[in-house]
Amino acid sequence: MRRLLLKLMTQRPAVAKSLHATYISLSVFVSWALLLSNPRLEIRNLSRRFAGQFAVDAVSLRLEPGQVTCLLGPSGCGKSTTLRIVAGVEQQDAGEVLIDGALICDGARSQPPELRNIGMMFQDFALFPHLSVWENVAFGLKGAKSARRIRAGELLERVDLGGYGAKMPHELSGGEQQRVALARAVAPGPKIMLLDEPFSGLDDRLRDGIRDETLEVLREAGTAVLMVTHDPGEAMKMADEIALMRNGKIVQKGAPYTIYNSPADKYAASFFSNINIMTGKVKGSLAKTPFGEFFAPGHPDGTILDIVIRPQHIRIDFDRAGQGPSPTDAMGHAARATVVRARFLGQNSLIDFKLEQGAVLTASVPSVFLPKPGTLFWLLAPRKNCYVFPRSV
Ligand code: ADP
Ligand code: MG
Repeated sequence: MRRLLLKLMTQRPAVAKSLHATYISLSVFVSWALLLSNPRLEIRNLSRRFAGQFAVDAVSLRLEPGQVTCLLGPSGCGKSTTLRIVAGVEQQDAGEVLIDGALICDGARSQPPELRNIGMMFQDFALFPHLSVWENVAFGLKGAKSARRIRAGELLERVDLGGYGAKMPHELSGGEQQRVALARAVAPGPKIMLLDEPFSGLDDRLRDGIRDETLEVLREAGTAVLMVTHDPGEAMKMADEIALMRNGKIVQKGAPYTIYNSPADKYAASFFSNINIMTGKVKGSLAKTPFGEFFAPGHPDGTILDIVIRPQHIRIDFDRAGQGPSPTDAMGHAARATVVRARFLGQNSLIDFKLEQGAVLTASVPSVFLPKPGTLFWLLAPRKNCYVFPRSV
């Protein structure tokens, strides 16, 4: 475009000028339209208290069509309550839910669940016991019976239940019933799908396949998916965005990569893997540890810091006649440590070390590495893999 304009500018300056003006106004218009377009689902400052305690505390989220967001957090942190408010089966004390920019509910008014065009799949799903499998799946579908039957059949194929259409729910296992319920929730092509740990009842062999298949169907249809899980591995596998919750609040939001590699605090880091924590006291913007000094700009003298490193990031080096590797800016000092215990876990080995200074750290090494207790090594904490947080209570 630019090259074309330059050429025109020299040959036909008037045409070039007006073309350029049109180009600029078009790009301004497009950027504004993008900025102003409404997300599929927007949750603003949602709060809900039970007996004076916040179950959901000022939760805000935006989901675009086709986006999968996982609400991740320990049991009781408010995930299901958030979902239930969006579904309309629970009411908030404050805050709003909007779908495509239209207000669905605030503290006072609430659109009934059946009018929200939201699909739901909760832990305590229930099939209609008097309807066959295909009738259950076709329940929310409109149109001719033959077309509904074909659509139900397609969805049953996708959840690996082709040929089960004529069976009754009581003839199916728990896992099969759950897959029918998934197909039923997906069938009407809802704008938004709420999933509350719907895969947790499936056995391992089935879970990954059904989960990927379900998400593919939903993504293809442009459905925004808000999914609850307490399993960080599941959230990492499925989510475009993870919203990490604690005590009713979202403590961090981001892509799986970001949230894993740039945790907001010690808790966020520990939710995804075991962590090692070293402490250090700040003096002159530096904190001393067995691995040398850590930069702690902005923390006043005397602040106690938690320095966090994941087991797979600790580097192990051999002893060279009482010497370890030389210190570098990126690696800091090596710390002398002896093996306390080594365990083989299949994909990796875990080795507990006792540092000369007394602290115990765990390192994880791919495959088999089982040094004898008492063996001397030198450990390194690469600075790029360490997170420095002020000690939280
Ligand atoms: P999660 O799904 O993250 O496990 P929930 O949203 O189910 O958490 O619950 C959050 C908190 O709210 C918990 O402390 C729970 O006991 C409380 N809670 C949820 N629903 C109700 C209710 N209907 N009445 C009273 N307390 C509730
Ligand atoms: Mg729950």
